[in-house]
Order: sequence, then C-alpha cells, then structure tokens
Amino acid sequence: MIDKFNRKIEYVRISLTDKCNFRCNYCMNENVEFMQDDELLTLEELKTLIKVLKDLNIKKYD
Ligand code: SF4
Repeated sequence: MIDKFNRKIEYVRISLTDKCNFRCNYCMNENVEFMQDDELLTLEELKTLIKVLKDLNIKKYD
C-alpha cells in the first residue's frame, strides 16, 4: 500500500481494545472515555479488515 506521502506501507498495528492500562499521556488523557464493547470491531469485522489489508499487500501485523 502506498500512502498519500508516497511511502510504501507493509506493516500495521491493530488495537483490539482501547482499554490499555499503560495510559501514556500522548495517547490517553486522564479523562479518557472508553468505548463500549459493542462499539469495538467484532471478530468477523477484524477478519474482513485483515483480508482487505492482505489484499493491499500488508505483510506484517501487530
Ligand atoms: S500509546 Fe501507551 S496508552 Fe496508548 S495504546 Fe500504546 S501503550 Fe497504551
């Protein structure tokens, strides 16, 4: 995949939840409001996302 800055993208990181307990301040402020479970991607949606990314030649996932 080529992004709008013409960089070749072959790696993505997918967050499965927003409830990370490290609380790095550049990512989460003190008053962060977590998403409801029904707002997170389902397993089927994750499978679809990964298939699309694979079709875009993404080779590595974290
Ligand atoms: S940046 Fe920090 S708080 Fe945000 S997801 Fe990563 S480890 Fe968790």
